Amino acid sequence: MALQRPKGTQDHLPDGSPKLRYDLSASAFSRVVGTARQVLERGGAKLIHTPLFEEAELVRRGVGGSTDIVRKEMFTVYYFGDHGGFILRPEGTAGVVRAYLENGLKQLPAPLKLWTHGPMFRAENVQKGRLRQFHQVDYEVIGSADALVDAEAIELMVRCVQQLGLQGARVKLGSIGDPEDRERYNAYLRQSFTPHLDRLSDDSRDRLERNPMRILDSKSASDQALIAELGVRPMLDFLGEDAAAHFAQVRTYLDAWGVHYDVDPSIVRGLDYYRRTAWELHHEGVGAKSALGGGGRYDGLAQELGGPETPAVGWAFGIERVLIALEAEGVSLPASKGPLVFVAALDAENVGLAAQVALQVREVAGAEFAYRALKPGNVFKEAQRRGATYAALIGSEEAARGVVALKHLGSGEQREVSTVDLKTTLLENA
Ligand code: AMP
Repeated sequence: MALQRPKGTQDHLPDGSPKLRYDLSASAFSRVVGTARQVLERGGAKLIHTPLFEEAELVRRGVGGSTDIVRKEMFTVYYFGDHGGFILRPEGTAGVVRAYLENGLKQLPAPLKLWTHGPMFRAENVQKGRLRQFHQVDYEVIGSADALVDAEAIELMVRCVQQLGLQGARVKLGSIGDPEDRERYNAYLRQSFTPHLDRLSDDSRDRLERNPMRILDSKSASDQALIAELGVRPMLDFLGEDAAAHFAQVRTYLDAWGVHYDVDPSIVRGLDYYRRTAWELHHEGVGAKSALGGGGRYDGLAQELGGPETPAVGWAFGIERVLIALEAEGVSLPASKGPLVFVAALDAENVGLAAQVALQVREVAGAEFAYRALKPGNVFKEAQRRGATYAALIGSEEAARGVVALKHLGSGEQREVSTVDLKTTLLENA
C-alpha cells in the first residue's frame, strides 16, 4: 500500500482537487493568512517567524508544567547523538516572547505588536477540528499593561474573522485576575472539591494538586456534572480591586467601539502564564466545546523565561477551525486564479516559440504554455481546464508572421495580435 500521511495531519491541496474541502484548500489557507496580514499590519503589527522546534525547557516553562499540552501532547524531536531536548512548538507565544527577549526587541517602540502564522503541533486525540498539526495566526503585544491594548487586541481578532466574511463569531470574555486572586480562588476550589475526591476524574484529582482552576476546564462529563451540582463560584467573583478595574476598563472600550462580547465567568485558559483578561472566540459551526481562538494577558511569561518583568497580551486563532466556520456559514473564499493566457503551438517545431511568448507575458501576468503541439480544439479545452482567460495559438503561418491568434474564452472573440504587442494587449483587456 502506498504510504500515507501521519494521523492528525492534513495536506493543503490545490484548487480543483477532487473532493476538496474548504479546510484542505491551500488557497483558502493563504486567503486567511493574507486577510490577517492586512488587518494586523494596518494595526501596526510586524511579522515575526520563530523556529518550529524549541528547547523543551522553553515549552515547559512557557506553557506550564501542569497543562495537558506539556504532560501529554508534546512531540519530542530526536536526532542522531542528541538527548531529545527539543519540542515541536505547540503554540506560538512562548517562542515569540523568547525571540523578543533574546533579540533585544525591547529597543523597538513600545508596545511592540508582533504577528506570526504557521504550524503548531500537539499529540491530541484526533477528531474534526482537532489535529496534531494545525495552523494558527498569532498576535502578540509586548510591553504594556494598559487595558486599551487588551481591547485593541480583541477588536483586531474579531476584525480578522469578520473581514473574511464570517458573521457568527462570538467573543466570550472573562478575567482570571492577578496571581494572588488566583491563589485565593484555588484555595476555595480545593476546599470545594476535596470532600468529593472520589467523584473527580483521575486527571482532575491530579489538577486539584497542581492547578485546581483547570478542573473547570475538564472535558469529563462527570467532572462537569459535579461542578454544576456544587454550584462552584466563578473566578470573576474573586477578582481583586486592580484586576476588577482593569477588566471594567477593557469592557468600557469594547462597548464604546461596538465590539460585541458576552461576559463568561467560566473562562479559564489552560496555560499557566495568563493574567487578568482572558477570552475565547466561538462559533456554532465548530461546536460549543471547541473555540475558533483564544487570547489573554500573560504578564508573567517573560519573567518565567528568565527575562525582566514585561507585560504582554496576545491571541491565536486556528486557521482550520476558521475555515470550518466559514464553510458552515456558506461563505466562499475566491479560489486561486488561472493564468491570464494559455499559449500553445499547433506544430512541434513551434513549441519553444509558444513557451517564449508565455515567458514574456509572465513579466506582467500569469501565463502557461503547452509542452507539446495541440490541435486547436484541444488548445481551448486545455486553456479552459486551467481557468485561463485567453488562449493564444501559434501555427507555422502565425510564427512566420510574428503573430498569435488570441481568443477570449468567455466571449469567443478572436483576433490576431503581434507577439511583440501581446503583453500590452492582454493587460489592456485583462
Ligand atoms: P490554544 O493555544 O489552545 O488557546 O488554541 C488556540 C486556537 O488554536 C484554538 O482556539 C483552536 O482554534 C486552535 N487549536 C488548538 N489546538 C488545536 C488542534 N489540536 N487542532 C486544531 N486547532 C487547534
